[in-house]
Amino acid sequence: MLAVTESNPIVIRGGLVWDAEGRTFRPGLAVRLAGGQIGALRPEMAALPGDRVIDASGCFLLPGLIDCHVHIVSSGEAGDLNRAGQEPIALRALRAATHARKTVMAGFTTVRDLGAPGQMNVHLATAIDQGLVVGPRILAAGMGVTMTGGHGHGFLAREADGPDEVRKAVREQLRAGAKAIKLFASGGVMTPGVDPKSPSFTEDELRAGVEEAHKAFRVVGAHAQATDGIKNAIRAGVDSIEHGVWLDEEAIAMMVARGTYLVATLTAPAVMAERGASEGVAPYAVEKSNLVLADHIASFRAAVRAGVRVAMGTDQGTPLNRPGENAQEIFRMAANGLTAAQAILAATKWAAELLQLPAGLIAPGRYGDLIAVRGDPLADLTTLSDPALVIAGGAVVRNELPEFSQEASP
Ligand SMILES: [Zn+2]
Repeated sequence: MLAVTESNPIVIRGGLVWDAEGRTFRPGLAVRLAGGQIGALRPEMAALPGDRVIDASGCFLLPGLIDCHVHIVSSGEAGDLNRAGQEPIALRALRAATHARKTVMAGFTTVRDLGAPGQMNVHLATAIDQGLVVGPRILAAGMGVTMTGGHGHGFLAREADGPDEVRKAVREQLRAGAKAIKLFASGGVMTPGVDPKSPSFTEDELRAGVEEAHKAFRVVGAHAQATDGIKNAIRAGVDSIEHGVWLDEEAIAMMVARGTYLVATLTAPAVMAERGASEGVAPYAVEKSNLVLADHIASFRAAVRAGVRVAMGTDQGTPLNRPGENAQEIFRMAANGLTAAQAILAATKWAAELLQLPAGLIAPGRYGDLIAVRGDPLADLTTLSDPALVIAGGAVVRNELPEFSQEASP
């Protein structure tokens, strides 16, 4: 899945290893990766001839991080997401490749991309698979599907009306190679003239889209900010509510009952409200962000208290929400109700469960996705933003730790 697909087995010694069940780091385990997967975890591990041995003494090893909501073709510069459909496609694609590289270098080894002009996210995923570009594993949704005039139209979503047309629009994404599906259940912040408090697709339209996606074993994320849009999406059977700005008690109870995930993307409105006006974000978008911010945080806190499943997602690509800075969402979740251990789980195990991938754990048979950081994330989550080692799909993409190649027989 990455540029360096041919890789000798790797043995990592000396680090403290994340134990998701115990929600702690355990000393005294070595990890072996081979064939793109995590092989064994043992107290003592003899390296075999040809093994690449990495000394992670003093470091903390975690599964590769997962961002369940990005728009990786966008730089996150003000106005870039809306511009993405107008730029020459070749230039945009090259730009997207640099975003993919930044993302994986920051320790994010899997992302779900929920909408790109020209289905460029699907093609970028292919380029990464073929080894043309270094980047994370991308579960790309192609274009999102929205109602005529709905949020996302004109740049990252295809318009459709009525259950049959929604079905067709979803099938088009599947035909193009989409590994995830995105539906728009309400208005949003980034489309001029669209009210985030208004629902968009009807429940019947959403259900048709969900059926098509689930028939093809694809996970569905629904952009849903408005309360009625959120409830329509939950009843239609989507796997995750994206944003969930205006959750009421009933919506939260429905999510708990059905196991629907919340991917809150707290970062998206927060960075716009904090810095949007000074950094040139369109005034309509800053104004809408200020409108949603307090309610958004209150909804997230209420959902966490009630036991709604959460998975980490940034909405990277929205203004000032840049590739490679994805870890900030982990800090924001921990500042708003999750413990540090829960915030780590939301970006690893829980995210993998939403995406239905064998990732998110350091355990035999899981994807060979692993990072090492220099400080204890349970004491200071910001250590996650600068990994010393990133291994994705069993290939080392970044390493600042000492290593050697095992020459002789053990
Ligand atoms: Zn988004």
